[in-house]
Amino acid sequence: MRVERRPRRRGRAVRRRRLEPRAAPPRRLVQGCSPVRQPRARPAARAAQRHPAVAGRLRRVLGRDAAAGAHLLRPGGRAALDPPQLDRRGAGPRAARRLDGGPPAALPRLGRARPRRGRRGPWAALVITHDVVVVGGGPVGVLAAALLAARGLDVPVWERRAEEPSLSRAIGVHPPSLDVLDRVGAAKPLVADAVPVRRGVARSGGRTLGTVDFDRAHPRWPFVAALPQHRTEQLLRQRLESLAPGSLRRGVSLDALEQEPERVLLHGTAEGRTVEAAARFVIAADGARSSLRGALGIDAPLRRYPDRYVMCDVADDTGLGADAVVHLERRGVVESFPLPGGVRRFVVLLDADGDDDGDVGVVQDRDAAPDAELVASLVAERTGLDLDPGTATMTSAFGVQRRLARRTVAGRVVLIGDAAHEISPIGGQGMNLGWLDAAAVAPVLARALRAAGGRRLDPAAFRAYEEARRRSVVRSARQAEINMALGRPVGTVVGAARQVGLSAALHLPTRRLLASLYSMRFV
Ligand SMILES: Cc1cc2nc3c(=O)[nH]c(=O)nc-3n(C[C@H](O)[C@H](O)[C@H](O)COP(=O)(O)OP(=O)(O)OC[C@H]3O[C@@H](n4cnc5c(N)ncnc54)[C@H](O)[C@@H]3O)c2cc1C
Repeated sequence: MRVERRPRRRGRAVRRRRLEPRAAPPRRLVQGCSPVRQPRARPAARAAQRHPAVAGRLRRVLGRDAAAGAHLLRPGGRAALDPPQLDRRGAGPRAARRLDGGPPAALPRLGRARPRRGRRGPWAALVITHDVVVVGGGPVGVLAAALLAARGLDVPVWERRAEEPSLSRAIGVHPPSLDVLDRVGAAKPLVADAVPVRRGVARSGGRTLGTVDFDRAHPRWPFVAALPQHRTEQLLRQRLESLAPGSLRRGVSLDALEQEPERVLLHGTAEGRTVEAAARFVIAADGARSSLRGALGIDAPLRRYPDRYVMCDVADDTGLGADAVVHLERRGVVESFPLPGGVRRFVVLLDADGDDDGDVGVVQDRDAAPDAELVASLVAERTGLDLDPGTATMTSAFGVQRRLARRTVAGRVVLIGDAAHEISPIGGQGMNLGWLDAAAVAPVLARALRAAGGRRLDPAAFRAYEEARRRSVVRSARQAEINMALGRPVGTVVGAARQVGLSAALHLPTRRLLASLYSMRFV
């Protein structure tokens, strides 16, 4: 008899447990980057009504799964427990990798379930798991988010800076990038604002060595579009906003991240308050000084070059029109590019020998913006062009370094843009390379998210992505090194040999090859 009763009692007990509420109302709703809140106990459906972001996400989830027959809402609009898109967590305290390199921080539990009395129905603590969170709202992060949003994915972007950037670094947008930008509707407005540069001219010692024509380098975009980076970024943000309103969250800084088998948990700060989110994948587009890269333990050897440049945007009275012109002079290269609004950018290599007082002054203070007078005098001395320093709208100085991350994929985190590879700006390909990363990783992530909702990782797909991008980045980095070497100061004999060699290359069939190289056809 005893032997029979025990199993029956156990069976009843098991059944009773199953009928009891399995979880309690949410302790925390983690909604993208909203400050963590402690909502009053209420059914998830009502919480969703009061929080439009949650409601929107539930609608998206429902829309996607309804066709497959998933019932995520119970009659009466209540959320069913454990739908695959909504995570229930009851994990214990964890330790996260801190980005500032400090000791692992004990983190509060996310959405821990606690039984509550007096409530009907079992409610799980909900933590919305985004498809992808992009860390870094620079040009690369924003384009990556737009490409993923265009595929119907849910992709918030965390950007540390509260204000829009006004710095103009990159100006050249190459044809393969225009193809990518076109996928999110950004190419046409960008081209409408930009100056189309159809020709590059090489000059030396007062004569033209030859030209590189971009008009046959690409069938659709027969030019390199020149537009200041801040304007390009503005256009990208507008496109992202129309594809996924509200997805760019300014003033949110990532502080720590934890990788779990099926997702990544992100911890950040916004206006002094803690924010948390979960995502199947994270794109780290947090720039050349990427703290995420460091936190993931990814090595990125740094190579510094001796070259120092000054640059200046001034009113263009040169008569050079829409040509990009490279003056290969004995004291160092002077490059100039047309910009919208009758402006021209001059980039001048400082003479490292230090036989010019002005040069030495700037070299010693690497980050100081140079005087526009100094840039104008260097340009006049080397090229004979007369600039009006009074019209300068921007001056800056920069040194050159190269930093290529040894790996760009670590579990569920993918590094792209300058976070993955910083290369010399001479040649103007850094931002473009980052965009090509974004274009290459978007389908890999979309496929991973389609298969089992992104829970499973396919390391082979990520490895193939990583290797292909690595080849492309190494090619660009080498090309930038060659550009820098060509522009360095030389003696009379080497200078003359350089003139002859370049002149030949720009008149032989190699000229077309150079056009393809300088418009990133092979990257
Ligand atoms: C002088 C100069 C000229 C250049 N010219 C060209 C050119 O003509 N063509 C070209 O292709 N490239 C050029 N480049 C390179 C180009 O500017 C960079 O490659 C490009 O800005 C990289 O974009 P990104 O989005 O990867 O990084 P960034 O532009 O650095 O953006 C990273 C973003 O991440 C944010 N962030 C960082 N940490 C966090 C965090 N913890 N949480 C949240 N947000 C965070 C930052 O605030 C920033 O907004 C030039 C560079 C220089 C310096």
